[in-house]
Amino acid sequence: MISSPWLLLALFLAIAAGFFLGRMETRRRRRLRRGPRGLPTFLSRDTTTSPRDHALEALLSSTDTDPDTVDTHLAMGRLFRKRGELERATRLHQRMADNPELPETVREDAALELARDYLSAGLLDRAEALLQHMVDHGNRHAPLAMRQLMMLFEQERDWHSALNTGERLLRRDASVAPVLAHYCCELAERLNPREENARRRLLHRALTFDPGCARASILQGQLERAAGHPERALRAYRRVRRQAPQHLPLVLDDLAACFSDLEREDELFDMLLDLSLAHPSSALLRRLVPLLVARGGEGEAVRFLTSYLQQHPSLEGLGELASLALGGEGPAETAPESPNAQEQSLRLLGALTKRAANTGYQCSQCGYRATKMHWHCPSCKHWNTLAP
Ligand SMILES: [Zn+2]
Repeated sequence: MISSPWLLLALFLAIAAGFFLGRMETRRRRRLRRGPRGLPTFLSRDTTTSPRDHALEALLSSTDTDPDTVDTHLAMGRLFRKRGELERATRLHQRMADNPELPETVREDAALELARDYLSAGLLDRAEALLQHMVDHGNRHAPLAMRQLMMLFEQERDWHSALNTGERLLRRDASVAPVLAHYCCELAERLNPREENARRRLLHRALTFDPGCARASILQGQLERAAGHPERALRAYRRVRRQAPQHLPLVLDDLAACFSDLEREDELFDMLLDLSLAHPSSALLRRLVPLLVARGGEGEAVRFLTSYLQQHPSLEGLGELASLALGGEGPAETAPESPNAQEQSLRLLGALTKRAANTGYQCSQCGYRATKMHWHCPSCKHWNTLAP
């Protein structure tokens, strides 16, 4: 136990000295990290301390009229935005865009960056007004501004405005046409089913923008079948094979219904057989196997599947084969009470392969996975990038 006041005082001084030296060392290390110049200080993540705000003001006021430093300023603004320092990015770009002493091209660059700041900050009204101004006043970045506007309207699901802006862009950039076809499809899907002619016109317009738009054909098929025109629906669905065979599974149910409406089921079998050889897919096989069994019995179906799987091996096909080998009972886990070992193995194989094959849809751009089809990727916002 410490009893002497002198000893207590010495202990207190030792602790104070240690604390002081620790602070000195921390400051020295901070100085080393900052380096000799002012820029890293300015770029610090800490946005609250006033010396750094003063540094920002000083930098802005001292060099924003100097054309030699504008590239650095623009780069810094983008860096601020990337780091989430949107208030700083906005102030920097705003000052540059408003500065009449800077060349017009620089002010146009700054305006585009400012619009991107607004978009990042979720200030959609401001972003829209600025981008629209850029488009209307012939800013040299007008095509980029139109792209940004389209994305903004997509976010707001304002398909009319997106389409109007996209049509202006189409005059300068033909690559936007497939996206415009999807805007028409979005508009058609939102119309009342009773407005058949308006929907027909929109889908026709979609196919004018992009003759390869499978979504427009699928919607046309649905519309015509619901309107009592199975022959027209069939024509639309058949077009999908040429446009995007990977999307054929989306129309198989409706295709079968059309052939049934027309009492031409034999044609369905021929079509499925032809499609499954030309564009192998699990969904096609699933449709085809029961028809094979109905026409030629299980033996015929097993022979077809065995030969088919040698050319187009797939987990789903293997599952179908296991089901057939079990006599059509399916690989469900509801096995009989005392199955033999071979039967048990087939059931397990069937159940596992079907479970493993059930993969849904995946985006070719970002890898996003979904259990249902999305024409607009919810993750990367690309159009028509999901496929089975
Ligand atoms: Zn994606």
